[in-house]
Amino acid sequence: MNIHEYQAKQLFKVFGISAPQGKTVTTADDAVKSTQDIPGNAWVVKAQVHAGGRGKVGGVKLAKNTDEVRQYASDMLGSRLVTKQTGSEGLPIESILIEKTYPIKREFYLSLLVDRASERVMFVSSTEGGMDIEAVADKTPEKIVTLLIDPAAGLQPYQCRKVAFDWSLQGAQIRALEKIMQGMYHLLLEKDASQIEINPLVETDEGELIALDAKINFDDNAVALHPDILEYRDQSQEDEKENKAQEFDLNYITLDGSIGCMVNGAGLAMATMDLVKLKGGSPANFLDVGGGTTPEKVCEAFKLILSDDHVKAVLVNIFGGIVKCDVIAQGILTAVDEIHVQVPVVVRLEGTNAEQGRALLNDSDFGVIAADNLASAAEQVVILANKEGMGA
Ligand code: GDP
Ligand code: MN
Repeated sequence: MNIHEYQAKQLFKVFGISAPQGKTVTTADDAVKSTQDIPGNAWVVKAQVHAGGRGKVGGVKLAKNTDEVRQYASDMLGSRLVTKQTGSEGLPIESILIEKTYPIKREFYLSLLVDRASERVMFVSSTEGGMDIEAVADKTPEKIVTLLIDPAAGLQPYQCRKVAFDWSLQGAQIRALEKIMQGMYHLLLEKDASQIEINPLVETDEGELIALDAKINFDDNAVALHPDILEYRDQSQEDEKENKAQEFDLNYITLDGSIGCMVNGAGLAMATMDLVKLKGGSPANFLDVGGGTTPEKVCEAFKLILSDDHVKAVLVNIFGGIVKCDVIAQGILTAVDEIHVQVPVVVRLEGTNAEQGRALLNDSDFGVIAADNLASAAEQVVILANKEGMGA
């Protein structure tokens, strides 16, 4: 689960990580009013969306007076922000954060995440902050420094000093960085965050270290244990279809292709997507309907897949282990009938009662195609999707 920058900065305060504490508002009038409580005569206006890369596309603006604050606020509020991280539809800007500005001397990058390869919590740091860290990793990988934390020993002061020396920090700054790193480490562990990213962590002209940006991601499997974190959830920033899927206990992820996939079992779903790709197609989604699929679930899954109008054909791949294939076939036919499925549907059924299932599909009037095997199912669905895509 993602949270907003302003929420992340509230958590930063609790954990002793120095960050600007601005005002979050939802109207241009309140934006202007909020400046009375924020010292200085210039302000940063920041779009609150669950994505980075805002600076490059007008989601972070420096206002030199309150007229500009009003202008930027009204431009942003109610619009959608499309960044490198959002997809083409972007995310709605429903609130903005107004902060004081800082004169920046240097911009650093600092993040903390769970590194699966080493099975450790890992800091990633760089002197090249403020910009796209992926680009730094790509062009100058030597400028990215990682540091693993032993879970038994915890984060050690010498490890923090190492980062401080990498950054050529002096005196009190070294202790300031240690405080920030310890704060991040405790926040990650206590709140079950999976990633905390500060980009940029700046050194101001006065030599202060401040987190100017803040991104936190929480482990979805642990978030139920933290009601305070759940309070931060903002569904307007989440994929509607993915939320709907959760309601019905379906594992669904939106992708950008044209072939809807309905599969039981996550591994089989991955293999199915690979096969679609291999045959030259592109999946519109990942969908695992689970092991104990019921006809009702199949129906809901169809609705979900077809609510995406990029879908030109659907591939159903069910292995009947616990569920019987004829029951699933009946569910598919009911769904196709009930929700008037307009695109071609190719079905591969294997396992218990597969013969009966295929016979049911073949004998129906809905034009559902029962394929003999997975390879031919994938082949057929790709051909059909391409035809539909060309307006055939
Ligand atoms: P992101 O683009 O979504 O990662 O948004 P950031 O919060 O990182 O802001 C983008 C950039 O705006 C930063 O890298 C800074 O260079 C700049 N910026 C943000 N806040 C301030 C500020 O208070 N003063 C100045 N001078 N620049 C700022
Ligand atoms: Mn940033």
